[in-house]
Amino acid sequence: MRKALVIGNWKMNGLQDRNAELLTEVASGVAGDAFASVDIGVCPPFIYLQSVVQQLTGTMIATGAQNMSQHAGGAYTGEISAEMLADIGCSLVVLGHSERRSLFAETDVDVAEKVQAALAAGLIPVVCVGETLEQREAGRAVEVVSQQLLQAIAGLDVTMLERIVVAYEPVWAIGTGLTASPEQAQEIHQALRAALSSLSIDAAEQMRIVYGGSVNAANADALFAQPDIDGGLIGGASLKAEDFIAICRAA
Ligand code: 13P
Repeated sequence: MRKALVIGNWKMNGLQDRNAELLTEVASGVAGDAFASVDIGVCPPFIYLQSVVQQLTGTMIATGAQNMSQHAGGAYTGEISAEMLADIGCSLVVLGHSERRSLFAETDVDVAEKVQAALAAGLIPVVCVGETLEQREAGRAVEVVSQQLLQAIAGLDVTMLERIVVAYEPVWAIGTGLTASPEQAQEIHQALRAALSSLSIDAAEQMRIVYGGSVNAANADALFAQPDIDGGLIGGASLKAEDFIAICRAA
């Protein structure tokens, strides 16, 4: 049985006072028994990670980064390593987000190297995959996302696979208000699980695959009711406590 997971990806939003307010509201909103069946995480910008970790100590909410370097250390000006993230108390890291791929030219090879570095540091990599509208309209969605996933985990020992989370985020649904229908999302999640089962049936069963792309308090229930959708990676709606709490409740 896979435990549900909801992660807020704040992207480049928030300043410290607002972050503290948001986290106070979220932490008290998700404190009850009703949320015991869901793992919850937030991913603030790098500069706020340490203070968010501190504020969330003693809560059930995990802290993660939105990116990291694939390199262990050295002359990489401006970069942050997996070990540094683990050192300050992060447990998650979002990797290969479509904004990283499209705006910062991250390749599947970069993502694969980052996945390995994250695992080596004991972090849970949240590997993002997703097709563009053009690829979907060409009937290539399943092929594109399966390839992205298999390349991101290429060469990993199968025993490591269960420690990875996959986020299916169709590029056309991110920040657009256009959500994949529950059926469209389920079809891709099922295909991703099938692609994984070629490597390990156990890992395919156990790996959590979450959906991202315009998830909100109104559509979360129907998405999370699908058998292969194990939760969500939430952008805009994770910046509003009430919405994020409602989404966590739906998971
Ligand atoms: P939105 O929920 O704002 O569409 O963003 C989704 C996303 O990219 C989360 O990583």
